[in-house]
Amino acid sequence: MSDQPTPMMAQYLAIRDANPGALLFYRMGDFYEMFFDDAVQAAAALDIALTKRGTHQGQPIPMCGVPVHAAESYLLTLIRKGFRVAIAEQMEDPAEARKRGSKSVVARDVVRLVTPGTLTEEALLEARRHNFLAAFAQVRDDGALAWVDISTGVFQVMDCSATRLAPELARLAPRELLAVDGSGLDDLALDAGTALTDLPPGAFDSGAGARRLAVLYGVETLDGFGSFTRAELSAMGAIVDYLELTQKGKLPLLRPPMRERAGGAMQIDAATRRNLELTQALSGGREGSLLAAIDRTVTAAGARLLERRISAPSRDLEVIKARQDAVALLVEDPRLAADLREALARVPDMDRALSRLALDRGGPRDLAAIRAGLTQGAAIAERLPQDAPAVLRDAARDLNGHEDLIDLLDLALVAEPPLLARDGGFVAPDYDGDLDDTRRLRDEGRGVIAGMQADYAARAGVQSLKIKHNNVLGYFIETTATHAEKMMAPPLSEVFIHRQTTANQIRFTTVELSELETRILNARDRALEIERGIFDRLRAAVLDHAAPIGQAARALAEIDLASAFADIATGEGWTRPRVDASRAFQITGGRHPVVERALKRKSEAFVANDCDLTSGDTPAIWLLTGPNMAGKSTFLRQNALIAVLAQAGAFVPAASAHIGMVSQLFSRVGAADDLARGRSTFMVEMVETAAILNQADDHALVILDEIGRGTATWDGLSIAWAVMEHLHGVNRCRALFATHYHEMTALTAKLDGVDNATVAVREWEGDVIFLHEVRKGAADRSYGVQVARLAGLPASVVDRARAVLEALESGEREGASRPAALIDDLPLFRAVPPAPAPAKPRDSALDLRMKDVHPDTMSPREALDLIYELKSLT
Ligand code: ADP
Repeated sequence: MSDQPTPMMAQYLAIRDANPGALLFYRMGDFYEMFFDDAVQAAAALDIALTKRGTHQGQPIPMCGVPVHAAESYLLTLIRKGFRVAIAEQMEDPAEARKRGSKSVVARDVVRLVTPGTLTEEALLEARRHNFLAAFAQVRDDGALAWVDISTGVFQVMDCSATRLAPELARLAPRELLAVDGSGLDDLALDAGTALTDLPPGAFDSGAGARRLAVLYGVETLDGFGSFTRAELSAMGAIVDYLELTQKGKLPLLRPPMRERAGGAMQIDAATRRNLELTQALSGGREGSLLAAIDRTVTAAGARLLERRISAPSRDLEVIKARQDAVALLVEDPRLAADLREALARVPDMDRALSRLALDRGGPRDLAAIRAGLTQGAAIAERLPQDAPAVLRDAARDLNGHEDLIDLLDLALVAEPPLLARDGGFVAPDYDGDLDDTRRLRDEGRGVIAGMQADYAARAGVQSLKIKHNNVLGYFIETTATHAEKMMAPPLSEVFIHRQTTANQIRFTTVELSELETRILNARDRALEIERGIFDRLRAAVLDHAAPIGQAARALAEIDLASAFADIATGEGWTRPRVDASRAFQITGGRHPVVERALKRKSEAFVANDCDLTSGDTPAIWLLTGPNMAGKSTFLRQNALIAVLAQAGAFVPAASAHIGMVSQLFSRVGAADDLARGRSTFMVEMVETAAILNQADDHALVILDEIGRGTATWDGLSIAWAVMEHLHGVNRCRALFATHYHEMTALTAKLDGVDNATVAVREWEGDVIFLHEVRKGAADRSYGVQVARLAGLPASVVDRARAVLEALESGEREGASRPAALIDDLPLFRAVPPAPAPAKPRDSALDLRMKDVHPDTMSPREALDLIYELKSLT
C-alpha cells in the first residue's frame, strides 16, 4: 500500500493539526470517531472498545467512537479527566460531497472546543454551582484576575497581585484558569483544583484586549463600564480571545464587565475556607459543609448566589443591613414567605437558558424557560408589598415590564415544547396563518391517504391491500403476491404501477399517490421551515431583551436567597445579628449549624455557648483549654461561621449577636489534624501561622486550634506562647485560641484583654462526662487518660497511664525538675503484675499455628486469611 493517506485521513490529520492539545471528535454519520493516539487515550479514559480502521504509513490506525446522541456523557467524563475536546462536524450534506466526485470527502470543521471552563450544556453543568473560567494577567507590577461564567454571562474583574491570587482562586474555585505561557502557576492551579491553560503572550495584549471588548459590547470606548487598569484589560481580553477560539466565533452573551472592589468582601484565605468547610467539606464533597447545611434555596440561581455570598461575605455595612432587612420582612411575614417560595419553585434556570440561546445551542424549551421565568417573576413581584425593604423593591422593579415578551412567547409557543427546534411542533396554532395552512395541508394529506386505501381496495377487489410508508420508497401500496397478479394485468395495471417485489409482498404506486406524497412532503418541509424561521425570530426577540432578562433572573435569585435565609431563621430559631463598624464580638447562645444538624439526626441536643471578645474598647482574646472531645474546635468554628453568616446578610444561629465588622477571617488547625497535605505538616502549620501574624489587621478575627502541637512539647508551647503575645500586642485583633498547654493559662495574668475559658466536663465514677459548656476560667486538668479509656484503650494500658500520670503530678508538686527523672523512678511496665491469664492447654492448635507465623513477611491478604484461619481454630 502507498504511504499516501486516504482523502478522509488527510482531512482528519489537517483538522487535528490545526487544533493541538485537544482530543478530536471527528463526526462520521451517527458517531464521533477518534483515531491514532486520541483513540488510545479516549478508549482508556472512557472504558470503550479500541478497534482498528485501515492503515497509515503501513501501520493499522487505532480507532474508537461514541454515538452522537450519547456524546454528552462521554464528553463530561473526558472533561472531568482533564481532557479538552475539539468537535469537528460535517459541514455539508454527504450528497453534496458525492456530487463533487466519488473521491470527494464531506467538508468538516471544528465547531467548538470543549474545555472545563466553557461548558454550557445542562447535562455537563452542576445546576447549583457556577462554572467559572478565569484569567490572570500581569502587566509590570500590576496583576488582575478576570472571570466569567459563560453559562450565566457573569463577567467580573479585579485588581489582584500575584500574592493574592491563591486566596481569590480559593474563593472562586474556577474550573479553568488562563495564564500566559510559562507563568509558573502550575502548582497554584493544582492546589486550587483548577485546570491551567497556557496561552501565548499575544492573547494577553492589553491594547488588543480593549479593542476586543469594545467590539464585543459594540461600544467605541469602555469608559462607560468604568476605568480599567492595563492588567485588567489584559485579563478580560484573554478571556474574550479564548472564548472566540473555543466557541469558534460564536460569542456567548456576556454581561458588561463588573469591577469587583478590593476590600468589598471579608478576606478569607484558602486554608481558612478549607478549615471552616465553608462550601466544601474536608472530605471533598458539598455534604458536611456550611453551604450544604444552610441551603434552603429553591432555585438553581438562588443556590449559586448563596454560594457566592458565603464565599465572599460583605464588608459594606449598608449592603449587609439592606440584605438583613429583606430577610427580616420574610421572617415577620411567614405567609408571604411561603407564597414566594411556592412561586419560586416553579422558576426555571433563565440564566442558563439565555446563554444557550445566545450561543445558538438553545431550543424551544429554552424559550419556554424564559417565558415561565418571566411569568412567575411578574406574579412574584405582585406579591411583594409596596413598602418592602429596598432589596425586595428593587427586585420587584426588575421583574416588571416584561409583558410584551411574555405575550409574544405565550402566543407563539405551545405549552410543552419539544427539545429541538429541528423537529418542529413547538409553534402554537393560530400564531402564524401561513404555518396553520401548511400544517392543515400536511395533516389532511394523511387523512386523504386513509381514504385512498379504501378506494384502491375496492377497485382492486383486494381487501387486505394497504398503503404504507418507508424512507426509501415513500408511500406505496402493498399486497401479497397472489392478490398482486390481477393488479399487474390490464385493466388494473393502468392504475397500479409496479415498484418492488420482496419475498412475500408486491409493492405498487399510482400517479395520484405520488402526487399526493409530494404535496404532503412539501407541506411538511415547508411547515418545518416556517417553524425554524419563527424560532429564529423568537430567539432574536429574547436576545434583544437579554439585559432585562438577566436582571430579572438576578432579582429572582435575590428573593430566593432572602426567603431561604428567612426559612432557616424561622425553622432553626436564628436571630438577626447587629453588625456595625466597631470591634465588638458578643455572641450569646451561639451554635454550630453543621454540628447541630448532625446531632439532630441522632436526636442529640447541641449545647449553645456564649462568646465575648470585647473588653472595653480593645479586642480580646480567649484562651480555651479543656480535654479532647470536649467541644473546643466546635466552639471556635461556630464563632467564625456566625461572623461569615452575619456578613453574608443572613440571620445567625445564636440567641443574640453583636459583631463589629470582620475584615479578615483566619482559621488554622494544629498540624496533627491536617492530613491532606504532602509537605511536612509542621512546616505547613508554621507557614500558615506566619501568614496570619503578618497579615491580620485590627478588624480581623483569628481562630487558632492547637497551634504548635506538631512539634515537641516545649517547642510547641513556646511557639504558641509567642504567637499569642504577637496577636495581642501587634495584630491587636479578636482571637480564639484553643490549646492543651495548660501552662499558657498563666498568660491571662500578664496580658490585658486575654481571658481563660474552658469547656466543662464532669467526672463521675472515674469517667468523664462532656458537658460541652464553655465557661470562663482554666481547665483544671486534661482528662486525657479518661478520654483514652472511653476510646477503648485496653484497661491495662489505661491503669498504667494513670499510674504514670499520678507519679508525674506528684513529682511536679514536689518540684522535681525533670519529668524523665521521675519516669526513671517508676517501676517498669512489665513489673505491673498482669491479670492472671486464663489457663490454656499447652501447645494448643492455636499455639502451633502461631509458631509458623512471620508477620514481617506477610502480605495484607495473607494476614487477613490468617485471621480467618485463627478464628476457625478458637
Ligand atoms: P475538641 O476540639 O475539644 O476535641 P470537638 O469540637 O471536636 O472537640 O467536639 C467533639 C464532639 O463533641 C463533636 O463532634 C460533637 O459531636 C460534640 N460537641 C461539640 N460541641 C458540642 C456542643 N456545644 N453541644 C453538643 N455536642 C457538642
